[in-house]
Amino acid sequence: MSLKQDFRSVWIALRQLSPVVVDVPAGVRRVLLQRYMEMSMRNGRLSLISFGILLFGLAYEAPLFPRLAAWALLAAIFGVRVWRVRRMQATFDAAEPRSDRTYDLLLLVASSFWGIAPIVLQGHISPFNLFAVMYAAFVAIALLTITYLAALPASLVLVSASIIPLVACMALQGSMVLVVLAAGTLMCTVALLMRVNSGHGTLLQALASELQNAALVQELQGYRHRLESENASLGSSLRDASHAASRDPLTGLYNRRYLAAFAAPLAETVRMHREDITVCVVDVDHFKRVNDHHGHPVGDEVLKAVANLLGTRLRDGDCLARYGGEEFVTVLRRCDVNRARRVAESLRHNVAGVEIDTDAGPVNATVSVGVAQWAAGESFDEVIHRADRALYQAKRSGRDRVEVDASDALRLLSVPQDSTLPGQLH
Ligand code: GH3
Ligand code: MG
Ligand code: MG
Repeated sequence: MSLKQDFRSVWIALRQLSPVVVDVPAGVRRVLLQRYMEMSMRNGRLSLISFGILLFGLAYEAPLFPRLAAWALLAAIFGVRVWRVRRMQATFDAAEPRSDRTYDLLLLVASSFWGIAPIVLQGHISPFNLFAVMYAAFVAIALLTITYLAALPASLVLVSASIIPLVACMALQGSMVLVVLAAGTLMCTVALLMRVNSGHGTLLQALASELQNAALVQELQGYRHRLESENASLGSSLRDASHAASRDPLTGLYNRRYLAAFAAPLAETVRMHREDITVCVVDVDHFKRVNDHHGHPVGDEVLKAVANLLGTRLRDGDCLARYGGEEFVTVLRRCDVNRARRVAESLRHNVAGVEIDTDAGPVNATVSVGVAQWAAGESFDEVIHRADRALYQAKRSGRDRVEVDASDALRLLSVPQDSTLPGQLH
């Protein structure tokens, strides 16, 4: 702060009788006032000590009456001061902080009193003790100034109110020794104030950046929250999108694209003879008739029901996908053709045994299944093709049947068809 600014602050403080700096941003001012009150309370004890020093000086040689009067006045001022600060703290409104004018006025009176007291006592005590009183006053004011670190202009007002009348009076009296002592005291006070001033400026800066930081932190937090929620919604739409990309919307089963991706790495597994894998192609029999008799929406209901029935027959690691209109493909892991045939029988049996409840009433459906075990060196399309060929055979043989591709038939054990118990999992 420049000297001009200091004087401006003093002037404003004088006009408003406010111990709080007024020419700072409202946010800083609010925090200052709060700090000022905290400090004031904390330094109450310090002020009490300063009063004690002053009273010690006064008590030395002064006659009884002015001494008692001084004691009483100081005690009253001190008491009211503590009471006012307590009240200010209790009623402090951070949204609209206001300094307490009565309290400020009391401080001014107290300071003036300190300045005037030695003058009043001048005729009664020796010059040496008069200086002792002055010095005590200086110490008291210095302590008070520190108390008002956050309120420099007010401190200036207080010091001016106490020291200047004293120095003026000494000069008028013409006592050179006292003038020199008083001037020295004044210089000390000014030096102290200059230190306080720089501390005050630092405090203001610290407060301003503290507030700015708080605002920045708040802004950053808001930004982070926005990012987090955007991230979350992006993540969920990404999940939705990838779910939609791999699923058939009608049945909720995997779609053909997913099936191809699922099967691609298995070709190598089969080639290395690490695992038996068998593929079944399942087709709803005479499905066109369902559509023709009951309408397309009922056909959809039947398709969904069949998809559900097929799904319940599979193990973890198997894959069931809707391959085309009313055609499904299952990829059975760790499953040779013998076992796959039993699974296929189970699927077929399961669908045939259920009356599907639709809007048009109960509908019966059957499926035919073509089975082919994935051979080493074969592509997924090739094994599908063989399973499809077996399916065609099943259709030709009357539908509601399971057929194993001819090239796998040799591997079949002589287990009669339809030997699997209903509901048995493979
Ligand atoms: P087959 O026993 O020989 O398989 O006879 P099919 O009638 O089942 O076979 P076809 O290929 O002649 O008819 C299949 C029908 O499935 C024709 C088509 O309209 C119907 N379809 C395909 N996709 C859907 C679908 O998503 N919903 C409905 N409701 N019908 C479908
Ligand atoms: Mg069909
Ligand atoms: Mg078909």
